[in-house]
Amino acid sequence: MSREFLSDKPLYDITKFTTLDFPQNLASIFWFCKCNMRCPYCYNTPIVFGEGSIDLKTALDFLKTRQNRLTGVVLSGGECTLYPNLKAFCKEIKNLNFKIKIDTNGTNPKLIKELVSEKLVDYIALDYKASKGKFQEITQNKNFDYFEETLNFLISINFPFEVRTTIHTDLLDVNDINLIIDDLFARGYKNTYYLQNFLYVEDTIGKMPIQAYTLDASKISKKIDIAFREF
Ligand code: SF4
Repeated sequence: MSREFLSDKPLYDITKFTTLDFPQNLASIFWFCKCNMRCPYCYNTPIVFGEGSIDLKTALDFLKTRQNRLTGVVLSGGECTLYPNLKAFCKEIKNLNFKIKIDTNGTNPKLIKELVSEKLVDYIALDYKASKGKFQEITQNKNFDYFEETLNFLISINFPFEVRTTIHTDLLDVNDINLIIDDLFARGYKNTYYLQNFLYVEDTIGKMPIQAYTLDASKISKKIDIAFREF
């Protein structure tokens, strides 16, 4: 394939170093612009609505300077699977011997399946935004069925991945979370489910206020392994 896409500028920013975002890896984070959701609690507004300014050749040149220091790259956003040349870009990253983690809302199962089958991704963090009944209300996206397809696929092949949900209690309460847990249990999800507490920042997409209360962890179902972040 031609490498012309390397002059594309889908990246809003590069985080040069993180120990937290890619389990067992020291990694960089590439932040892809654009998203097909509008979660009210999203604090990445400049990324969701903005234009990229960093081209992929610059990103790869940066990785070349980190080859003996970092082991992984996180492709995040925004929603990185919207970028049409993501697969070709992953091949370039793999040629430099980095592991790849993808953060996704799951709405592009076709691409996720291709990346997995071609061994172009090593770990996935999949957002479970809300149960089917609330999915569109919270995300402004109709494609729960695509998300579901991604989830089922990753479970079916026992892929190393995590499911996670961000909680603002104006949007999701204990019952909503327990519905998700019931669903994950029924689908045979065996990994840890991460519940991420909303931390207030002013400029979220939906201008969300400080939460009136924090989720009561004692009321969360224990059917599957749960981990709490930022509670
Ligand atoms: S939180 Fe929602 S709107 Fe923000 S980047 Fe993620 S999927 Fe897109």
